[in-house]
Amino acid sequence: MILEYPFGRFFCLYAASTGSSFQLVGTVMMLESMEQTNEYNLGIRAVFRKQKTHALKLRYSTCEDRLAKLKKLKQAILDNRQEMCEAAYADFRKTPAEVEFAEIFAVLSQLNTAISRLRKWMKPRHVSSGLVLLGTKGHIRYEPKGTALIISPWNYPFTISFGPLVSAIAAGNTAIIKPSEMTPHMSSMIRRIIESIFDEEEVAVFEGGIETSTALLELPFDHIFFTGSTMVGKIVMTAAAKNLSSVTLELGGKSPTIIDKTADIKKTARNLAWSKFLNNGQTCISPDHVYVHEDIIDEFCAAMEERVQRVYGKTIADQSVNPDYCRIVNQNHFERLSALIDDAVQGGAEVVFGGETGPDHFIAPTLLRNVDHNSAIMQQEIFGPVMPVCPYTDIDRVIAEINSRPKPLALYIFSGDKQFIKHVISRTSAGGTCINTSIVQFAQDNLPFGGVNDSGIGKAHGEFGFQAFSNERAVLHDQFSMGHMLYPPYTPKVRKLIRAVMRFHS
Ligand code: NAD
Repeated sequence: MILEYPFGRFFCLYAASTGSSFQLVGTVMMLESMEQTNEYNLGIRAVFRKQKTHALKLRYSTCEDRLAKLKKLKQAILDNRQEMCEAAYADFRKTPAEVEFAEIFAVLSQLNTAISRLRKWMKPRHVSSGLVLLGTKGHIRYEPKGTALIISPWNYPFTISFGPLVSAIAAGNTAIIKPSEMTPHMSSMIRRIIESIFDEEEVAVFEGGIETSTALLELPFDHIFFTGSTMVGKIVMTAAAKNLSSVTLELGGKSPTIIDKTADIKKTARNLAWSKFLNNGQTCISPDHVYVHEDIIDEFCAAMEERVQRVYGKTIADQSVNPDYCRIVNQNHFERLSALIDDAVQGGAEVVFGGETGPDHFIAPTLLRNVDHNSAIMQQEIFGPVMPVCPYTDIDRVIAEINSRPKPLALYIFSGDKQFIKHVISRTSAGGTCINTSIVQFAQDNLPFGGVNDSGIGKAHGEFGFQAFSNERAVLHDQFSMGHMLYPPYTPKVRKLIRAVMRFHS
């Protein structure tokens, strides 16, 4: 211990010699914490080594082996439904109904898809051979990458920890999960569920914050599946580059919504009042800000107010005690969001409804109009129950604004005009798009889920998730090919043959 921390020892002796007990206690505490951190890191490394060894065995794991693990995970989640809801409520008053469908159901759906399709996904894909390779047979074999690291955020801890785990197990990997430190009850629940069904050489969980992530990111994982902010995504990718670990980055950003004048306003408001205020707006694919055609903006704002009052209560007092309305996760985010509202209002934004804050990190469902496009709320991901509504008349100016920003994770279009929808989709880029609905793309396992550049790299869910954790190994088997006829020495006869092949391909 002392040998490992010579400076710590020096300060300890210095503190003792100056008789400063405060300094001494502080230094001893620092040394103890370093010792604990060191022990923890040693624990991480030991588990990582075990998983690396075990991963070699999983290379030849059968579909049945993997199905057995997926079924075990499914049963453990079903057995712990109640406790999962309680943990989520303890962290930020997540309402049990939303935990059931946006966390538990979301994972069960991914588990069911994997269980029913794994055999097909694992099958080698045969490819045809061209003329030159006539007599050979080629196929793609989906082999496990090996040992995977899954780092998850706090907003949907169960979905975003267990979801990638389903893909990792289906693809035959071992995995270490690092859930978020911001939702300790849910993170500890994740650890307990995993520990109850898996040996640590197969799946392990390390709770902790940045220091735990950093220690894990030093290790040469075969794949890193990170979900979180774009800023931390860059840190993860930099760390992964040191070991050339492949990455899937599921990141954030601002997801715009466009409402055309042909949209069904009532239906649109019903949908957005749900998707924006679900989880208190703390959803990566939540509609961030909304562009509404000027002709219908008054009607849209009124429809939103009517809908929000119907769902969450007429007054702020009603809304603050509504058990279906959860809370901002912590004081930092509460202050960040309060400052965003204040800044927008000072910049001339009109509060259509909401804007109030209260104890226990309560922020009322809020709609802002006439927001300055250069204000902070229009620059950063909002990630809270605040919806800026911007009028437009010329859709191409909206498209230009969207294209001037990082490519979004989601772009939503509400319109009854097919040409309009086509126009917007073909001139923008986004990880995913829904038309006349929002956020439900997450539940469609047959579609790839993920961002593009700033909003993410790589895709997840269903077969796309399975492939993210698999190496597509190219296998070519020579049976009776004639390739050797083109080998040197390049006699006139061989050159003639090469020319014939060239002619065939030109
Ligand atoms: P975050 O990036 O702060 O943290 C995510 C994880 O990274 C946590 O486990 C955290 O401990 C770890 N981490 C934080 N700082 C780190 C560092 N410096 N080095 C290494 N690890 C570090 O994100 P968050 O606040 O937990 O989650 C919110 C963000 O996640 C939002 O931007 C949201 O859009 C995004 N998100 C994206 C998706 C998606 O599927 N694309 C899903 C959910 C959330």
